[in-house]
Amino acid sequence: MYGFSFKEYVARAVEVVSDWQSRFSRYTVDPSLHVNADDFERAFTSFVERIYNTYPFFHPLYAGQMLKPPHPAAVVGYLVAMQMNPNNHALDGGPETGAMEKEVVAELAAMVGYDEHLGHLTSSGTIANLEALWIARELAPGKSIAFSSQSHYTHARMCGVLNVATVEVPADNAGRMDLKALRARLLSENIGTVVVTLGTTGLGALDPLDGILEMREEYGFGVHVDAAYGGFFSLLAQDDPETALVPPEIFRALRHADSFVVDPHKHGLQPYGCGCVLFRDPAVGRFYKHDSPYTYFTSDDLHLGEISLECSRAGAAAAALWLTLRLFPLRGDRGLGAVLRQCREAALEWAELIRTSEEFYLVIEPELDIVAFFPHSESFSASNISRMTKAMFDSAMDAFPEPIFLSLLRLPVSMLQSRYPEIIADRDEVTVLRSVLMKPEHRAYVPVIHQRLCAMYEELPGDISREK
Ligand SMILES: *Cc1c(COP(=O)(O)O)cnc(C)c1O
Repeated sequence: MYGFSFKEYVARAVEVVSDWQSRFSRYTVDPSLHVNADDFERAFTSFVERIYNTYPFFHPLYAGQMLKPPHPAAVVGYLVAMQMNPNNHALDGGPETGAMEKEVVAELAAMVGYDEHLGHLTSSGTIANLEALWIARELAPGKSIAFSSQSHYTHARMCGVLNVATVEVPADNAGRMDLKALRARLLSENIGTVVVTLGTTGLGALDPLDGILEMREEYGFGVHVDAAYGGFFSLLAQDDPETALVPPEIFRALRHADSFVVDPHKHGLQPYGCGCVLFRDPAVGRFYKHDSPYTYFTSDDLHLGEISLECSRAGAAAAALWLTLRLFPLRGDRGLGAVLRQCREAALEWAELIRTSEEFYLVIEPELDIVAFFPHSESFSASNISRMTKAMFDSAMDAFPEPIFLSLLRLPVSMLQSRYPEIIADRDEVTVLRSVLMKPEHRAYVPVIHQRLCAMYEELPGDISREK
């Protein structure tokens, strides 16, 4: 299916490790570690029954949350390294996977145009952001951290952990940080750092990084970019600006940000456990200064634990990413860029179908690969739209024999009203449908999904939108 035999490489992953083990003297596995083959079979059987209770993230008809499986090549890399289980905290824990991590981190830094960098992989985007916000606090002590109302919920939470005051900046009707509102808050509040989201988790909106960087000249503050989801789309910013699928001025501005976060476990084909934080100024390494009585002995080179908040981290995550990037280089014209291009095109094509349909309305024009939309309802109020949305969501997921998986998103009604003034705001929020088209196969499935959703819409009981 993927041009190589996954089964064969899984078998080789086992062989490679036993070959490596055979280079050391033989020993006996302690009986306390033995398992009875029948017990294993029974346990495995019930395990298999349970694990099937998982949504089919791999399938193009799963077009819901920001979820997909890793590329099989990443699994092979992970499987080999996982059996050895290096720990990328220190070179004592994994000299080679530590080196691989430094290489892939340098590639991610180059992707956004950093000349110099300090950074490392993390177990998630949340931890990567926590680290960037912690450094931001150290660089601007006593000042607050600002982020938009559409930014990821973990920023407020992590500022709580860090005991830093926060400023929420309203989003505009396209879900982007409102520049005017930011300016007003820069004047009235003591803001040390602005978190700019490139690709909000809800709508995939792009905060105006270029405009915010201009403001930095004027007001002086740090800029951290949360590109956990959207960061890899910078690969498409190298295209001819006339035809580029993403706004080049925004992604090309990334090189001027003080720090940024990108999650290879979102759009980088990796299994969970792989975020990345990068700083433009390597001198921030001074804030990490600590000693460890246990580690950092085998080498005088940089141990990743010396520049990261976490201690143990899977060396297998670095190995998997390293192997993946040999096959899917960070290029716009091929490799990972070709994957993202399909996703972006899928979103554009579906947006066009929705815009011209009678059954559905587009919330905003998609900026990356998330499409948000809602069904037509006879009485156009926030509560009726929400009810119809929920009915569509349920009937898509209950469809037999092949369900379609979508997700839901709550938004301020005012955002929809800016495009559809006739919507009655009988409450402040409205629930809409949301689809993350993060698999390249989604492109071919967009017409199928759209047509099936239109047919389901026709089948909805006519009075749903009038129910009380
Ligand atoms: C997913 C996401 C996060 C959180 O990352 P995790 O890897 O899930 O911890 C933070 N910010 C944005 C914009 C995200 O999309």
